[in-house]
Amino acid sequence: TGKFFVGGNWKCNGTTESIKKLVGELNDGKFEESVEVVVAPPFLYIGQVIGSLTDRIAVSAQNSWVGKGGAFTGEISADQLVDAGVKWVIQGHSERRHVIGESNETIGKKSAYALSKGLGVIACVGEKLEERESNRTTDVVFEQLQAYADAISDWSNVVIAYEPVWAIGTGKVASPEQAQEVHAAIRSWLGDKISPDLASATRIIYGGSVNGANCAELAKKEDIDGFLVGGASLKGPEFVTICNAVI
Ligand code: 13P
Repeated sequence: TGKFFVGGNWKCNGTTESIKKLVGELNDGKFEESVEVVVAPPFLYIGQVIGSLTDRIAVSAQNSWVGKGGAFTGEISADQLVDAGVKWVIQGHSERRHVIGESNETIGKKSAYALSKGLGVIACVGEKLEERESNRTTDVVFEQLQAYADAISDWSNVVIAYEPVWAIGTGKVASPEQAQEVHAAIRSWLGDKISPDLASATRIIYGGSVNGANCAELAKKEDIDGFLVGGASLKGPEFVTICNAVI
């Protein structure tokens, strides 16, 4: 796999002032050379962040439209993200699936279009609690992966984020063993369905209640290649600690 990859997903949080402070903390951060760092501000603040953040950290969007621009009120196209200097986009986040109602098919389309414009895609997957409790975790995750595979032909610019829904924003982090088990299953799925080379090259990152205290144990697991961090990414010094959990 490539570099350890840590993304900060700021979700729908922040103000001009709070983001100024957070960017200042990130600019002061000392990052290990072997970590790739990305932050995903709300669309509205992307210009502010790109204009003030160190080049050491790349900027991601949290979503993008399924295709090119036009009469799509309230949407932002991948072309516009590229124009603004954005390098990555998160797709298929649990909140977009389960709060906003995006389907596997829509997420696949969005991902394919973003990749075609040169953006990297952070492709999220993850099961709900009732799915885990009924032993359907890998069924659900593989179905989500298949929907990406149906739309995407070139995976070289994709990072897969495993984010169990029950761990997001709950303080209930997956244990390192629970996360490792699913990450290994994702990697073998990639090997079977796409290619063995891709399986070993693809970063599979974990998200869901990652913080400065639990990141080191998770990072030790063989198939955990980074993190997607929500709440703790809003605190600059703690986010820097998580980035430096790389070994
Ligand atoms: P939390 O770190 O707040 O649990 O959020 C995880 C997440 O959804 C990142 O995309």
